[in-house]
Amino acid sequence: TTPIGLDFGNYHSYVCAAQRGNLDVLANEVSNRSTPSLVGFSFKNRYLGETAKSNEVSNLKNTVGSLQRIIGRAGDDPEFLAQQKFVSSKLLPVDGQAGAEVTYKGEKRQFTATQLTGMYLNKIKQTAITETKSQVSDICIAVPVWFNEQQRLAIKDAAAIAGLNCVRVANDVTAAAVGWGVFKNNDLPVDKPKLVCFVDVGHSSYTVSVVAFKKGECKVLGTAYDQHFGGRDFDALIAQHFAEIFKKKYKIDVNTNPKAAARVMAQSERLKKILSANSSAPFNIESVMNDVDVSSSMTREELEEAAAPLLKRAHIPVEEALKRAGVTPDQLDNIEVIGGSSRIPSVKEVLSKVFNKPLSYTANAEESTARGAAFICAMHSPTMRVRPFKFEDYNLNSVTYSWNPVEGEDVSELEVFPEGGYYPNTKVITLHRAAAFDVTARYTNPDTLPEGTNQFICKWTISGMQGKEPAVCKLKLRQDPSGIFTIEDAYVAEEVEVEEPIEGAEPAEEGGEIPTQTVKKWVKKTDLKIEAQGLGLSQKQLQEQIELENSMIMEDKLVADTEDRKNALEEYIYEMRGKLEDIYADFASDAEKANLREKMEKIEDWLYGAGEDAKKALYIAKYEELASIGNLIKGRYNAKQEEERQAKVAKKEA
Ligand code: ATP
Ligand code: MG
Repeated sequence: TTPIGLDFGNYHSYVCAAQRGNLDVLANEVSNRSTPSLVGFSFKNRYLGETAKSNEVSNLKNTVGSLQRIIGRAGDDPEFLAQQKFVSSKLLPVDGQAGAEVTYKGEKRQFTATQLTGMYLNKIKQTAITETKSQVSDICIAVPVWFNEQQRLAIKDAAAIAGLNCVRVANDVTAAAVGWGVFKNNDLPVDKPKLVCFVDVGHSSYTVSVVAFKKGECKVLGTAYDQHFGGRDFDALIAQHFAEIFKKKYKIDVNTNPKAAARVMAQSERLKKILSANSSAPFNIESVMNDVDVSSSMTREELEEAAAPLLKRAHIPVEEALKRAGVTPDQLDNIEVIGGSSRIPSVKEVLSKVFNKPLSYTANAEESTARGAAFICAMHSPTMRVRPFKFEDYNLNSVTYSWNPVEGEDVSELEVFPEGGYYPNTKVITLHRAAAFDVTARYTNPDTLPEGTNQFICKWTISGMQGKEPAVCKLKLRQDPSGIFTIEDAYVAEEVEVEEPIEGAEPAEEGGEIPTQTVKKWVKKTDLKIEAQGLGLSQKQLQEQIELENSMIMEDKLVADTEDRKNALEEYIYEMRGKLEDIYADFASDAEKANLREKMEKIEDWLYGAGEDAKKALYIAKYEELASIGNLIKGRYNAKQEEERQAKVAKKEA
């Protein structure tokens, strides 16, 4: 299997494969190097990625976007419900989780955001399989830095639904930093680290990370983000600007009409992009609603005015990230700007001002995150030989583990992974217990969490102590490489005496033994059982969703195959008709020709009438009906061709 990296963007995603010593960003079925992060549903099948985009405007109610923003949220999370502004299908809670309602195959269906993302990831997997011509299983998925426990677990579940094994969830900007570091490794210092600030202004969020690089490794010193700052927020402000204008100028309110609003939003995005390279741009939509054609324009200055509420916040993530990293702008060796919205001139301007330094664009603005993710996946693969690039990430939110204290115990909780720490990270704690007990992890400070974040992380039940007296239970607590909080190991420990060489001691005589001493050490005696009750799907739920996804894949495949058979039938008729007049004319009797023509006409009528939407087997049967006659004629023609060819060869040889 080929290791895969995915930059799971809110707008579109890039997928990259680590193959033959390269990191190759893969093109999809229409040769685009990125795939819209959208899923759609129709009367017959699902539209995943590109087809969802191309059908979006005519299928608004059944197209779901902003997957990245809704996955792993609770159904009543205000942040989830606020996404309705950017999502054209109906958002609603499904099994208590964020979800959407669509009409699929003529029926109202509800799917959770995890399922919808699973569908999308399955499409990405198909692209990867087609492009690498190999099996695909392991994947590293890059997500926003602000993804919490629940969101990270949900993306892993979504991968599992798609039949993928998510070996690591990486922060997108960190993946970009790794991609950058791997590429530049030969120029990286061995002693004093090189300090690089990565600024990623994307579609829905804006992230800044300060990263220290040395040869073969990097460490994220500080990260900050604005969850509500990205291209789509600019689009919304521009759309609002025009909505106001159209109210006055044309007496229409585009916001009362979903289709009109969607078209204004799409046109606003187009205009925004034009304004990145031009000082003014037109804004026209024909028959936007009530048969009204709208026409207006915008200058760069007007865009800045409309976007002022955003632009005045643009300096904040940079300042926060630098502060957390304990770095001043003048200490930075490089400022790497990535993400589509970093192309907006006013954003660039703010950035140059806060850094007071030139910005650089040496990181591949679009693809570095996916490349980094593919590299990370390859590092996790036992079959790939890659020179490792070590990296540590920054923990944004403090996490506390707690337990019910027993008599004589005065501590009932511990801040194990503080904000500003680095991960992956492990800490061992000791509790004295005679019977099964629970440990719970939670985010320490609810006030500093992004809105809607579940403070609860996980509850574990630890059991398996044998004796009556309290045993020394050691718990290995871990913030794993994906940023997920676990209890990795739990065991009863016992103290044993071991002989150890004395550190720094010299042998009494030359060539003699190093003197040793007896020390007491805690070692594992028996394993304890760990049962987790966390925020991910249960095995049973996951299994059900995998089966449902597989059945939908089969149905989509059947629809696609049926379409192929129908096309084959149409093409056969078209081709046969031409050839009967032409090269096959002398190889069929008049009766045969008449018979075939009559059959073809009948089938053609059927194709455009009752047979418009028939079963695959029927198209095959009709095809065979024609081919049984047509192939005879074709056979005679081919035999004659062959005869002539042989005659030519014989003549040449003679
Ligand atoms: P996120 O990182 O927020 O999840 P993403 O990774 O999918 O999103 P990017 O590819 O970084 O997003 O950026 C997409 C955004 O960049 C879109 O909003 C798009 O309109 C905007 N964009 C792309 N090109 C330009 C341009 N030339 N000028 C202005 N904006 C642009
Ligand atoms: Mg992005």
